[in-house]
Amino acid sequence: MNKAVFLDRDGVINQERGHYTFGLDEFVINERLIDALKAFVDKGFMLIVITNQGGIAKGLYTHRDVEILHQYLTKVLTENGIPLTEIYYCPHHPDTGKCLCRKPDSLMLEKAIARFDIDASKSYFIGDNERDIIAGKAAGVKTILIESNTPLTTIINQVL
Ligand SMILES: [Mg+2]
Ligand SMILES: [Zn+2]
Repeated sequence: MNKAVFLDRDGVINQERGHYTFGLDEFVINERLIDALKAFVDKGFMLIVITNQGGIAKGLYTHRDVEILHQYLTKVLTENGIPLTEIYYCPHHPDTGKCLCRKPDSLMLEKAIARFDIDASKSYFIGDNERDIIAGKAAGVKTILIESNTPLTTIINQVL
């Protein structure tokens, strides 16, 4: 079985700016992200992003906008020799209807765990919001709560 580091996006991978991030000019990768992700890969972890993008349901931006950001992120990581296994995003928002995937629900994590044969007990979810931690616990992975925009290099030692 595989093990994974699941990562929230805004505030963990890129700058949390206090509002929805959907333009490339606002997508600023956090300091030392590459170093931290390299360390996780070297320890044998897959990397999987799990993000709520409720701005789609609200009509603030589109699937295409999100995909452009995710292609950019994948490109930057690939150029640095870091494989990103998958990005899951929930496009829904409770203002426009209930779904099963939006964090704090754990469906996105559970899908990834099943699809990539992941041992949840050896995996981690790193998030900057309590709902990330709730989702991680529900899926049976270990959880690490960081302050938004903290360099992940500061928590490398917590990922065993
Ligand atoms: Mg976040
Ligand atoms: Zn959803």
